[in-house]
Amino acid sequence: MTFAIPDSPKTKQLFSKGEVALVGAGPGDPELLTLQAFRFIKQAEVVIYDRLVSAEILALLPENCEQIYVGKKQAVHRVPQDEINQLLVVHAKKNKRVLRLKGGDPFVFGRGGEEAQFVLKHDIACHIVPGMTAASACTSYVGIPLTHRQVAQSCTFITGNVQNNGELDLPWQTLNDNKQTVIFYMGIKSLPIISKQLIKAGRKASTPAALIFKGTNPEQQVYRGTLEGLNHLVKLHNIKPPTLVVIGDVINTFDEKHLVNLGYLSPK
Ligand code: SAH
Repeated sequence: MTFAIPDSPKTKQLFSKGEVALVGAGPGDPELLTLQAFRFIKQAEVVIYDRLVSAEILALLPENCEQIYVGKKQAVHRVPQDEINQLLVVHAKKNKRVLRLKGGDPFVFGRGGEEAQFVLKHDIACHIVPGMTAASACTSYVGIPLTHRQVAQSCTFITGNVQNNGELDLPWQTLNDNKQTVIFYMGIKSLPIISKQLIKAGRKASTPAALIFKGTNPEQQVYRGTLEGLNHLVKLHNIKPPTLVVIGDVINTFDEKHLVNLGYLSPK
């Protein structure tokens, strides 16, 4: 199957030498890459990429593209953010097309905004190419709608990584509506605090909750339980990042028996 990339308002924006492109690679499945991301990937001369970018997507890079891994693990930043910023500038100043490839969307919990600010300050132009964020793709792939009429009228994406003296400094009272889906990024380590605080704020202890490990990837696993049982689930299955935490009644929209493949619900 061959196809041409259709014209879009951005098609004519060239990825020029000496520029940076901040590109969202989506949550892993290469089919969730946008055509625009694909176009930029194909022109990269240097790529600076994160741990969350899948091998299948890296395989799309041009053969002669220099690859620099700056993978981050929560709390253990392999390359400090300052150094990543510097790398972008150094390679752009060498007149390269610099691809900054990030998991999901570069502007959702990815420090993409800081990177764009930094390169602009150094007089370098920066393309922003959105990607599919984990909250959207991972839930679809396990049959959980983020909103559903009469069940959830809003959804909130929130980070579980804001530590303040060992406490999670989050606006818990804004998360107490039972008709709101709450999605935690980087939430695994803080789960004991998350469930305790949400219940204290007014969410029912029996609220359905799900943990999605490596969503949209071949290793994807989904674990379902309740808000008060989340810790137990993590311990029982030894769940590690990258995992998305989903809380809300939308989790029960479809019976698990219908989910027979990634993003595939069968009536049987
Ligand atoms: N910019 C990314 C988020 C980076 S923060 C995005 O828009 O998706 C990293 C966190 O995102 C992980 O700890 C995890 O909570 C979540 N995440 C990213 N990709 C994921 C995946 N494929 N499966 C499950 N969680 C994922």
